[in-house]
Amino acid sequence: MVVRMRRNRSQTAKRRSHHAISGTRLSTCECGALRVSHRACPKCGKYNGRVIIDIVARAKRDARRAKRKQTELRESGQTSETKEATQN
Ligand SMILES: [Zn+2]
Repeated sequence: MVVRMRRNRSQTAKRRSHHAISGTRLSTCECGALRVSHRACPKCGKYNGRVIIDIVARAKRDARRAKRKQTELRESGQTSETKEATQN
């Protein structure tokens, strides 16, 4: 038996020629930074004019976590990454 309505490779490729995804659409925040729409701004933490994310607290938390990770690496004897981090 043969498929009567079978699409050949060319027809499939022609249909798929419109399927390419474009880059992310970025809008500018009121602070001037680029941000993804419907997401809070990573620079100022605002969404729709209101402050949603406490940027200062988050930066402190990230610094504390990085420091803790460094100490854990040092204690476990993996000093190669810490050396690289201090060089850079
Ligand atoms: Zn912003």
